[in-house]
Amino acid sequence: MQKEKVIIIGSGPAGLTAALYTARANLNPLVISGNQLGGQISITSEVENYPGFPEGTTGPELVEMMQQQAERFGARLLIDEVTEVKFSNGPPFYVKTHAEEFEADSVVITVGASPKRLEIPGEEALIGRGVSFCATCDGFFFREKDVLVVGGGDSALEEALFLTKFASRVRIIHRRDQLRAGEALKRRATSNEKIEFIWDTVLEKIEGNGKVQSVLTRNLKTDKTEELETDGVFIFIGHYPNSSLFEGQLGMDERNYLVTDDHMMTSIPGVFAAGEIQDPVWRQIATSVGQGCAAAMACERWLEAQE
Ligand code: NAP
Repeated sequence: MQKEKVIIIGSGPAGLTAALYTARANLNPLVISGNQLGGQISITSEVENYPGFPEGTTGPELVEMMQQQAERFGARLLIDEVTEVKFSNGPPFYVKTHAEEFEADSVVITVGASPKRLEIPGEEALIGRGVSFCATCDGFFFREKDVLVVGGGDSALEEALFLTKFASRVRIIHRRDQLRAGEALKRRATSNEKIEFIWDTVLEKIEGNGKVQSVLTRNLKTDKTEELETDGVFIFIGHYPNSSLFEGQLGMDERNYLVTDDHMMTSIPGVFAAGEIQDPVWRQIATSVGQGCAAAMACERWLEAQE
């Protein structure tokens, strides 16, 4: 079994920052990427609010730079997925991937969050056939097509704006008549002539034979149902933490986010967590980077105290 000082599970901004800091502390960290190197930002087209980039940057560019910076100081990246952990008798902590088994003196968990689903008929069956959770990934396939966006938060509006580069019409369906999104995005979306809003409305069903053809909507104020023809349904209704691997082993809150103390430590000493796996509130690249940095410094101090 391979022995490691620090294993970082996850390779988004929190994980790559934890890698940079533990690498610079000579801890030679191993980063296990998960199924998406870079996490959610790897599929984010424009990043305009990460400091240091006055003209903005893209998610994939930022991931590549963060990875290079961590590797420059000795971080190692393993492209694999963790399938099992055993923390209760550690340290050392047991970490298993599809291909290898490890023992680690400490672990930093940065596995992030995943998009929530509507859980309505047709959604699951039509994923990749018109149902999407990523405009950056799939927007290109909707050139001159009609698409619906579900949600009223920053993600829904940002992705709707991105979709206007391709689609002929983007209708945003929101369950209330007030947007949750911030003012800047609200202004841009409401003044974009390709974007229309359908208020107080939810989707009840997505229909299509092999690809999305229509949806059934219900107006929550009038209870009226309506069938809308469309080519695509993009769903941006929030996220859930990817914490199932740690169930029964680490303390979680009522929404299954990992609970950490003010030193980013989970309920097991030596196991730390950072980024969206433990942060249901801020969920920004900048905050994930800060939390990854704090977790790495706390991990370094904790390892020192064990010697
Ligand atoms: P969010 O802020 O939680 O918004 C989710 C939206 O989906 C809300 O409008 C919510 O409606 C709606 N919704 C939730 N469950 C639903 C359901 N079952 N059916 C229909 N609608 C449903 O999530 P987000 O937009 O992904 O943003 C998450 C965080 O990331 C936020 O803090 C946001 O500020 C941040 N973010 C920032 C940027 C940026 O700064 N450029 C970009 C993206 C995300 P209600 O409003 O009625 O609750």
